[in-house]
Amino acid sequence: MKALIYNGPAQKAWVEKAKPGIEAPTDVVVRITHTTICGSDLHILKGDVPTVTPGRTLGHEGVGVIEEIGLAVSSYKKGDHVLISCITACGRCNYCKHQMYAHCSDGGWLLGNTIDGTQAEYVRIPYADHSLYPIPPGADEEALVMLSDILPTGFEIGVLNGQIKPGDTVAIVGAGPVGMAALLTAQFYSPARLIMVDMDSNRLEVARTFGATDVIRVGDGDAVQRVLELTGGIGVDVAIEAVGLPATFNICQSILAPGARLANVGVHGKSVELHTEKLWMQNISISMGLVNTNTTPTLLQTVQSGRIDPGKLITHRFPLDQIETAYEVFGNAAKEKALKVILNA
Ligand code: NAD
Ligand code: ZN
Repeated sequence: MKALIYNGPAQKAWVEKAKPGIEAPTDVVVRITHTTICGSDLHILKGDVPTVTPGRTLGHEGVGVIEEIGLAVSSYKKGDHVLISCITACGRCNYCKHQMYAHCSDGGWLLGNTIDGTQAEYVRIPYADHSLYPIPPGADEEALVMLSDILPTGFEIGVLNGQIKPGDTVAIVGAGPVGMAALLTAQFYSPARLIMVDMDSNRLEVARTFGATDVIRVGDGDAVQRVLELTGGIGVDVAIEAVGLPATFNICQSILAPGARLANVGVHGKSVELHTEKLWMQNISISMGLVNTNTTPTLLQTVQSGRIDPGKLITHRFPLDQIETAYEVFGNAAKEKALKVILNA
């Protein structure tokens, strides 16, 4: 079969590789029908994720059809259409019992990290009973790829950790796919204002069509000052950091109203300076974490009922064998006006 492999920093290749098989009775092998590329794959290609070693097939998002099935898998059968979670869960360990699947003692973020991932014709999924979700008949399977990672990430680590309430003023710093997922799912809770902050004016335009009430372009003056002006000098009730840089974390910690929550979603490669001398008396809560994907069934229901349409995050489509071109487009997102690129097998 063909697969997109990491060959060390800045090196990837579309190569012939052995098709995966069943290794444990709880495994299945899925034939990929749709997959995508994540901001984290770009982090890997920069060499920022040392757990990924050369030869690893990348990708942790996708949907497909079960081709082979282990003897102990009870929830699925051959031919079932399934959504692949970016998080593998054994379903039995203490963390899984608390729905902290990100910390599963034999799972977590494995796909496209420590085991071969979804940017291939076939992928082996360990603990299939707990790491896949059945796709309802008639669903838009391309759109469901957004539920492998970005939608639960924006929802769990941004919206739920940020405890958005009706009437809140919310700022989301970063209008990439994850920030946009937070923007879409924040609207479940009827915030009064949703302020999007980014440096990419195309993404900010798109954010308006997704429900942002205000947009601020970093570079057009001081973003902190602009947020404070918009909020009568008070600041926001919830700030969601969806970039992963000291500069954007700084914006978030500088725009908090008393009692506010700062929900960090971004993956940080460097430490940030936390202004405890200003924040201590403001009754601030700060949260951060790796997505658990425990809300995937809930999100599936909201998509099936038409409450949200994650398909609108898809800007580009390519055949799977043109994945190297898709990486070029996704890697130049501002120039290409790209959000999510879908690869169809
Ligand atoms: P992305 O790179 O597509 O989006 C980041 C956005 O930030 C871009 O639109 C970019 O223009 C903007 N940006 C960059 N520098 C900026 C600055 N100085 N000021 C304002 N805006 C700036 O990434 P994404 O796929 O949307 O992911 C966002 C973050 O979430 C990444 O760090 C990613 O690794 C992380 N992530 C976290 C989890 C988790 O479980 N916590 C899961 C998936 C992704
Ligand atoms: Zn577990």
